Amino acid sequence: MDFSFTEEQKMIANSAREIAKDFPPEYWREKDLKEEFGGEFYKAISSAGITGLIIPEKYGGAGKGMTELLIAMEELAANGCGMAAPWYLIITEIFGGMSIIRHGTEEQRKKYLPGIASGDIEFCMGLTEPDAGTNTLNTATRAKRVDDGWIITGNKTWISGADRAKGMMIIARTTPLERAPKKTFGISLFLVDMPNPAIMITPIPKHGINYSHSCDIGINDLEVGDDALMPPLDGGWYSLLDTLNTERMSFASAAIGTARVAMNKAIDYSKERKVFGDTPIGSYQALQFNLAEAYAGLEAAKVLNFKASTLYDNGASVTEVGNVVNPAKILAVESGIKAVYWAMQTLGGYGYAREYDIERWWREINLIRLAPISQQMALSYIGEHVLGMPRSYM
Ligand SMILES: Cc1cc2nc3c(=O)[nH]c(=O)nc-3n(C[C@H](O)[C@H](O)[C@H](O)COP(=O)(O)OP(=O)(O)OC[C@H]3O[C@@H](n4cnc5c(N)ncnc54)[C@H](O)[C@@H]3O)c2cc1C
Repeated sequence: MDFSFTEEQKMIANSAREIAKDFPPEYWREKDLKEEFGGEFYKAISSAGITGLIIPEKYGGAGKGMTELLIAMEELAANGCGMAAPWYLIITEIFGGMSIIRHGTEEQRKKYLPGIASGDIEFCMGLTEPDAGTNTLNTATRAKRVDDGWIITGNKTWISGADRAKGMMIIARTTPLERAPKKTFGISLFLVDMPNPAIMITPIPKHGINYSHSCDIGINDLEVGDDALMPPLDGGWYSLLDTLNTERMSFASAAIGTARVAMNKAIDYSKERKVFGDTPIGSYQALQFNLAEAYAGLEAAKVLNFKASTLYDNGASVTEVGNVVNPAKILAVESGIKAVYWAMQTLGGYGYAREYDIERWWREINLIRLAPISQQMALSYIGEHVLGMPRSYM
């Protein structure tokens, strides 16, 4: 067991920290308020090769793994970018890049991966539906076979980055649930070019992360060729789980990085702020112990999360990775929420002011409790798949 970063991983962390210096919290405060995409930031991470980090060299990337991507995500977040950096990387690198690397055809890889690496293609994933919610197997979006391809119809909700994306991975049923021999059969994944007149996109006003729009989507008789299908037909469920594992580790890193930036701000403040005599508030154990406890949880989550990414990079099965990444996600989010909560308490009233950014990081980190998988569903996963206890729902 070796817990140290390689020289190359240290360089990636360093490069992420250098980029973050140019995009401090005030940059994101303004982007969030104006509901504007951080285009300058996206150009900077593309020029530095971060959008190409996991893309194989033959398609213009650096050919690194999830571990390196998590390092970049956490360092960007922790050094000023908060959730924004991992967010942009998740919607393009994970939903587009990693899915296509692992499950796309050679033609699909050639078509999308070079543009993802260079930063010219942003992606998104159309999974969640208004009625199915967490129960993905109830997906009602239907892809019907026609002579030379497929016609896709359905509604998706909360699809992040759909208003900017040049491509979307759509999750659809190719065999209706009632005709499927088992529930997991009949789910297929399609890669669709955007924008497209058959896809209606409506941004949803939301609580935080407003430098990216999450959208309602109507897919009306969208015609795609056979080349849009990511194989295997009807067997997309396991490819999807593979992608969702990498999404969970990325959100765990987002929680850890966002917690670190908030805690660091609070610690600096706590050393200066004096309200009773000459003692800084940072010496009060009510604040200090809670931040210390959050730190301990974050460190444990980080080790677990890197274990998940190492398993993934070394070719472990979807289940082996799932058994580690779900606990990592739960721990990262609970410890991260605790960290940002106590960072806000440390700043007192100022913690509530936009100017100090902690209220924004609080809005950001709270999302990870309910998405991409809610804490309850991650606990159910552990209960059922790791502890072998009876399933709590149908
Ligand atoms: C800002 C934002 C961005 C998003 N981006 C994307 C995206 O890019 N692409 C995409 O496809 N989706 C995206 N989502 C959707 C997200 O993944 C879902 O919101 C999430 O999976 C939960 O689904 P739901 O909102 O329908 O909740 P529901 O499934 O309705 O669940 C509601 C509550 O019930 C609980 N619950 C449900 N079933 C059980 C059970 N069996 N046991 C215990 N508790 C249960 C849940 O834990 C949750 O607390 C995004 C969501 C948000 C808010």
